Amino acid sequence: MNSTSFSSLGLSDKSFLVTGGAGFIGSHIVDFLLRNGAKKVRVLDNLSTGFIENVALFNDWTNYEFLQGDIRDYDTCKEACKGIDCITHQAALGSVPRSVENPMLTTAVNVGGFVNVLKAAQESGIKRVVFASSSSVYGDEQQLPKIETTIGQPLSPYAASKRSKELYAQSFAAVYGMEIIGLRYFNIFGPRQSPKGPYAAVIPLFIEGCLRGTSVYVNGNGLQTRDFTYVQNAVQANVLALTTRNINALNQVYNIAVGQQFSVNTLFEYIAQYLNSSQKPIYREARLGDVLHSLADISKASNLLQYTPEITFYEGLDNTIAYFLANKATLFKE
Ligand code: NAD
Repeated sequence: MNSTSFSSLGLSDKSFLVTGGAGFIGSHIVDFLLRNGAKKVRVLDNLSTGFIENVALFNDWTNYEFLQGDIRDYDTCKEACKGIDCITHQAALGSVPRSVENPMLTTAVNVGGFVNVLKAAQESGIKRVVFASSSSVYGDEQQLPKIETTIGQPLSPYAASKRSKELYAQSFAAVYGMEIIGLRYFNIFGPRQSPKGPYAAVIPLFIEGCLRGTSVYVNGNGLQTRDFTYVQNAVQANVLALTTRNINALNQVYNIAVGQQFSVNTLFEYIAQYLNSSQKPIYREARLGDVLHSLADISKASNLLQYTPEITFYEGLDNTIAYFLANKATLFKE
């Protein structure tokens, strides 16, 4: 999505709140909104899994504000909503294994925090809220590609928390007349995705392993597939959902992906080859709560939001590897 195609959407009339804006996806949304003329962009983030460095580059923008705070605190959410027209809610605790280890924390942040944001929005007169859901809501449903209407049972507390968000969104739309749009992200990757901590995502870990020679683990046999989606595609979906004037597009959930599947082995081989690494992955037991295959049908987002993924898997990987190469001195320090 280029800037010219957005000039007609009137971002300059609107003030945006990006919760979780210091995180990986949130910081790219902030970046896009600022560069495309948003009147104001405020970030609410407690920096639990995000980094102040991700948003430091916006400090020079006079229409940018950073509010450090926790979405589990209702008054903080109310404060964050002051003077805001629409919200994109990215703040959450990601990771299936984290949720298996501490389901109470995942639920408190992902469900309780979301309800706080919704109620604070409603009390502040904000109608439009876009929120990050997840492909994990498809759970044990085997059908491929995944279509929005056919979901299975959640396989982890994380998946249950994302499904709960969708249900609360429906209820707030019904009770308070809000305009809420859920985006079911499928394995988003790109620059600024953190390789740090026990719950880091696979792509930064593979790149780190090939660059530094640290051990690379593959859960299961590596034949599992994912609809890996470059972060700019997720940004595009957020901006479309924040600005759509199509009433049929409101109060819906959408798959946000590319619509192609690649195996974890293919992913590793591409990264290793690009970085000229002879690193070999160590195969270990598949993780509890993980699904085997994931592939999205994106026609609903395409029809109702005019979403068109512009960056392919391989283009996205090239950009991501180049970013990690350029920043390896700071990214991988202990
Ligand atoms: P991230 O961890 O980089 O970003 C989440 C941000 O939320 C962080 O900056 C973190 O500090 C903040 N946050 C966490 N708890 C908070 C709290 N209690 N109060 C305020 N801020 C808090 O993760 P991400 O990959 O950018 O994910 C963004 C959203 O997308 C999340 O809702 C996640 O569940 C969802 N999602 C991501 C993916 C993916 O592949 N990355 C896939 C599906 C869904």
